[in-house]
Amino acid sequence: MTDKYAVIGNPIGHSKSPIIHQAFAKQTGEDISYEAILAPLDGFESTVRELIAHGYKGANVTVPFKFEAYQLCDSLSARVVSSGAGAVNTLVNTHGNLHGDNTDGIGLRNDIEKNLGFDITNKHVLILGAGGAAHGVLNSLLCASSITIANRTHEKALDLVMGIKDCEVNASTYDSLEKSYDLIINATSTGLTDTVLPIPSSVFAPGCLAYDMMYGRETPFMKQAREAGAQVADGLGMLVEQAAEAFYIWRGVRPLTQPVIAQLRNA
Ligand code: NDP
Repeated sequence: MTDKYAVIGNPIGHSKSPIIHQAFAKQTGEDISYEAILAPLDGFESTVRELIAHGYKGANVTVPFKFEAYQLCDSLSARVVSSGAGAVNTLVNTHGNLHGDNTDGIGLRNDIEKNLGFDITNKHVLILGAGGAAHGVLNSLLCASSITIANRTHEKALDLVMGIKDCEVNASTYDSLEKSYDLIINATSTGLTDTVLPIPSSVFAPGCLAYDMMYGRETPFMKQAREAGAQVADGLGMLVEQAAEAFYIWRGVRPLTQPVIAQLRNA
């Protein structure tokens, strides 16, 4: 019997997750269906309960419901607990028992290290933004030599660095950025509005990888990085890698990601 899965968000029309999971299913021979579901902004829990009642085996969760998903779970993966982010992007339904995981961090790390061939270990990393995405990925970057988090609202950057011991982590404002960094990750949503971040081009060290979590087009951050001589990447690979990890959690099978990234880039 076909096992049912879905991605829940609001808005959801733009989501590429159904294409990605249908491609994984075809590639691995797994018998699943996967659809996009628009939940009302005040109706996430009832949407999830309805899916459980209809026998869905799992779901991905996207903006703005990752924090609500965390609250709904009966159990959580070790990486969700240790991240302290309070956000879940993957739900597993076992006979009505909801287990939550977050695959954004491993998705980002796999894209940067495996697909782009950039080793994060011992590098100086700058994260721009301190919202849900920055929270979700911070733990996966702690092999770096140092991590600086710069955010428009400084208090949120200070909150994010609190309690991290495994790596030298500090909070900054944009206008006090003076050093240069080997890896710069734009985890703000400024790409959506073409907002230019107030960062100096001197932050891009020679050989720097500038990674924008947004995908689909060149953002002002990517343009600035390219003009400063950095290697530039968007977040499409991360999207596919986080989906692959969710697929593995659900099905116990690891799909190949490269053909799916290529399929989406060519579309
Ligand atoms: P949030 O709404 O939680 O956080 C938004 C962040 O952007 C905050 O740090 C906010 O700063 C900052 N920001 C927003 N507007 C401005 C502005 N005008 N100037 C400066 N900073 C600004 O969003 P998420 O963290 O969930 O998502 C961030 C991005 O990451 C989105 O574009 C999302 O699509 C992408 N993403 C991509 C994924 C992938 O798989 N490729 C996975 C997850 C996210 P402040 O705190 O001051 O408001």
